[in-house]
Amino acid sequence: MKRLILASRNELLLVKTDSGYRLPTEHEVNVCVGAETFSFDGYMASSIEEAEVLYDRELERRGLRESWGMMPEEHYRAASKGIELLNWSGAERYCGKDGTLLVRATEISKRCPECGREYFPRLNPAIVVLVKRGEEALLVHASTLRRDVMALVAGFVETGESLEECVAREVMEETSLEIEDIRYYGSQSWPFPHQLMIGFTARYKEGEIRFADGELTAGSFFTREAPPVIPSMPSLTRIMIDAWIRGEI
Ligand SMILES: [Zn+2]
Repeated sequence: MKRLILASRNELLLVKTDSGYRLPTEHEVNVCVGAETFSFDGYMASSIEEAEVLYDRELERRGLRESWGMMPEEHYRAASKGIELLNWSGAERYCGKDGTLLVRATEISKRCPECGREYFPRLNPAIVVLVKRGEEALLVHASTLRRDVMALVAGFVETGESLEECVAREVMEETSLEIEDIRYYGSQSWPFPHQLMIGFTARYKEGEIRFADGELTAGSFFTREAPPVIPSMPSLTRIMIDAWIRGEI
């Protein structure tokens, strides 16, 4: 029994349950014949506009981000992928070289029938880094965060640099600190939209904190005993800060 990912931009059509939400099944919603679909691992993604709800079942529209943690983890992960594929397909329709309408080649790619060029969904890599000074960790406030919330230094990887170079550059640009001993921690798909978050730990080397480029407005080294308010979503940033508070990093 297939689960359906029915989306419009970043909204999903979901079934309400006692504990939150779940993806509907193919017995609850009918997807129109001829609709563009993406199938993978027992899931099928299609546009909400192509969906016809059966048996008068009431379904609710919910944003992907706000439904995080309110539906089974595997449903959320599949929905993330489905939404990314649908949004990519809607945006990438013509060959960049000759303007020909692209055709589907596989479940995750398109091809130009004129020149043969292949197209895949784009992914933007971004880093987060937990900088330690002794037992303390550097936590910072970005203007995009809610008031008082402190998180990790983060930034997008630029063309021509390695992940480690990106980590060192972002920390220098945003805080004026030099770091060393940069180590990979883990990664997380971040479909808001099409990003891949890659987490690192590092050690403080030298320098005084200065917020030069305007992205960050506050921050300092905190102790485990008195951490600040941290992000509530189970993002990689939150996972890493939690691991530090538990003494694992
Ligand atoms: Zn082409």
